[in-house]
Amino acid sequence: MKPQPLTALALACLAAFALSLSWPATAAAPALAAPAGPAAPAAAKPAVTLTYLGVAGWQLSDGQHTVLVDPYFSRVPLNSGPTPIVPDVPVIAAHTPPRADLILVGHSHFDHLLDIPEVARRTGAQVLGTASTAHLVRAAGIPDDHIIAVKGGEDFEFEGFSVRVIPSLHSALDAKHRFGGDTVIPADVKLPLPLSGYVEGGALAYLVRMGGHEILFLCSANFIEREMEGLRPDVAVIATGYRAEIHDYSCRLMRALGRPPLVLANHFDPFTKPLEPKPELPPETRADLARFGDEIHRCAPAAKVTVPETFAPIILPARR
Ligand SMILES: [Zn+2]
Repeated sequence: MKPQPLTALALACLAAFALSLSWPATAAAPALAAPAGPAAPAAAKPAVTLTYLGVAGWQLSDGQHTVLVDPYFSRVPLNSGPTPIVPDVPVIAAHTPPRADLILVGHSHFDHLLDIPEVARRTGAQVLGTASTAHLVRAAGIPDDHIIAVKGGEDFEFEGFSVRVIPSLHSALDAKHRFGGDTVIPADVKLPLPLSGYVEGGALAYLVRMGGHEILFLCSANFIEREMEGLRPDVAVIATGYRAEIHDYSCRLMRALGRPPLVLANHFDPFTKPLEPKPELPPETRADLARFGDEIHRCAPAAKVTVPETFAPIILPARR
């Protein structure tokens, strides 16, 4: 495994700082109220809640089934050098739901993968991700029957929801000099790893169908346009960092996805600072997310664009 330059990852994280903001600070938790009218018939599906967990983490639930995407609470410092990094168990315990069915992992960088084994143990959830992700969670003691290794292109049915695994790309780190994409965490990995051992291992996006909704999770700010073409999510969770490196990022995405009505910014908060619901965000980050909203509206004028508040559930109305 080729040693990974820390500089690239440090740059990634600094950029994430630069891109973080709670724009619009005044934006209330974007509850989509169910339309007024007669009481829903008994056969109607329950409302779905979508909750931002910070960094690129999300919780999706219909009350009976719960899917987590990239839950990461430990927020380890970047300057750990060769020192192994470990999950912050009390912080994870404080924020992890008591149970979950499935954890989706976008790629194997530390800010997506470090906490996954601990979250999987606590919730009983299966873990779905690349071979790189599978190797690490197996080494951390997650049993094989709780690990689903995928390549991208799968479309899996689960009880109460389904997941389409979308081949994707990582954001263009280090001025397009891709970081870690050609390496994987090996099958014989020994834990704990230093931060630089959490190599990308390939990138995935996910379309989760639950309660009549289709929610797209883009965990890093890049995508393969032909893989997005024809998807019609009603909610698009879109990573924003480094998108300026990508040609026409927001518009190409909106066109490919059929202009989803609700767009939520993702992976924008200061992910090495301690977890808090309303992180203090630098002005340049606020400005960048304001630009993100403008970009989306240029190509999807009717879209509601929201920067989510951490731990504030977004209610998606029940759909029959
Ligand atoms: Zn990453």
